[in-house]
Amino acid sequence: MKATLRLLLLGLAALLPPSLPAAEAKRPNIVFILSDDHASQAIGCYGGKLMKTPNLDRIASAGMRFDRCFCTESICAPSRATILTGKYGHITGAMGWKPYNRKHRTFPEYLSDAGYQTALVGKYHLGNNPPGFDYFDIFPGQGRHRDPQLVSKEGTKLHRGHSSDVITDLALAWLERRDRGRPFLLCLHDKSTHMPWQPAERFAKLFENKTLPEPPTLFDDYRGRADWLKLSICRVDGINRWQEKLWGAPPAGLSREQECRWLYQTYMKHYLRCAAGLDENVGRVLDWLDRNQLAQDTVVVYSSDQGFFLGEHGWFDKRWMQEESLRMPLIVRYPRLVKPSSVASVLVLNTDFAPTLLDLAGVPAPADMQGRSLRPILAGDATRDWRKAIYYRYYTEEYGIPPQLGVRTERHKLIHYKGRVGIGFPPKGAINPARWQDVDEWELFDLKADPNEQTNLYNKPEAQSIVSQLKTELDRLRKELKDQN
Ligand code: CA
Repeated sequence: MKATLRLLLLGLAALLPPSLPAAEAKRPNIVFILSDDHASQAIGCYGGKLMKTPNLDRIASAGMRFDRCFCTESICAPSRATILTGKYGHITGAMGWKPYNRKHRTFPEYLSDAGYQTALVGKYHLGNNPPGFDYFDIFPGQGRHRDPQLVSKEGTKLHRGHSSDVITDLALAWLERRDRGRPFLLCLHDKSTHMPWQPAERFAKLFENKTLPEPPTLFDDYRGRADWLKLSICRVDGINRWQEKLWGAPPAGLSREQECRWLYQTYMKHYLRCAAGLDENVGRVLDWLDRNQLAQDTVVVYSSDQGFFLGEHGWFDKRWMQEESLRMPLIVRYPRLVKPSSVASVLVLNTDFAPTLLDLAGVPAPADMQGRSLRPILAGDATRDWRKAIYYRYYTEEYGIPPQLGVRTERHKLIHYKGRVGIGFPPKGAINPARWQDVDEWELFDLKADPNEQTNLYNKPEAQSIVSQLKTELDRLRKELKDQN
């Protein structure tokens, strides 16, 4: 009898429109956690073998993991401008290191107008006085990990401790003193796992006696691919140019290969120690939501402003259109809409974040936002009319990494390296080197057959039909997205 009644009630519940029950009609709170340079390869729920991330995995096991979320330009500030505005950098002005034009309004500004109380704590990296926030405490520029300074409406203050702990303390303090009568948006933007990789003291010995697995392409020879891949200076075997002060020189007497392996292990241990602090602090926020009975009515989003190379292709850093740099982690928990442990494989962009969060808050997304709301995907609805390709554009010319544009479909990726690029290491004190060269090269990859992007099919006769289709798609997207650069 009991079982029959339960079945009947479940059947009735399924018939009700999702917007009817009072609890569902409430506007959700939003906790938007954005880290810096945190690669999916280092996250447990993405199948990462490097470390455990129990708290990020908590979000995924209660929500949805997006396996194909990409950035429009793989570098900090442009991705952040895109996340906030829902627009590409060529629209807002945030191309490479250029600032975005604040006439392009952000999702926190729209949420604030709609009655949300709004806070931003941590990295902003788009100037001062972030618009749309009732409260902010932001790092000046990149900020620092140890004893960071933070800038609020009251001025600049030094805070003792590690950046991840400090910003989480400030965020939780704001949540405690918030107005309980209105929904909130908390943007918690960690500096981890950005270089220099200085973890909190309690993680200083993590992985100390462990040998971490190497990616299969650590010693990539770039054979058959664009010549420019060899000219990047953001290489694991050259990483001590930036990090030697932090962890010291490799032991003497090592072969070049042994030295690269030593640098990889050292780099990874420092990076992952920062990720451990990030994960632990995510757990503190989730615990706070649980303790305050807010987990059901709060959308929790975890992402990073781009991906990062953890030794793949012999590289660290980002910028390139190769998968490890292009792909962003994106995990969303919202029990009122999203089924636990669900996975989405549709092509998602950082332009989608702003329209999604507005949609979930019941605020119509402005028509000039270039992304699309992920609500139907989060709700598990059919997505037949979803985008079939994404458009990527990287503008900067530094570190021997060329400007590039390209298109990625579910199966293929076409990259055009085009423009001017600086060669070799910059002179002391300069960002760009003294010598420049023009570049014009193409690559095509079949991501299904070649997920590590080792075989350039661009000049293969059998690939010419797909090359032609993708060039047409690249032109179409460029026009549709109004990129006139
Ligand atoms: Ca970044």
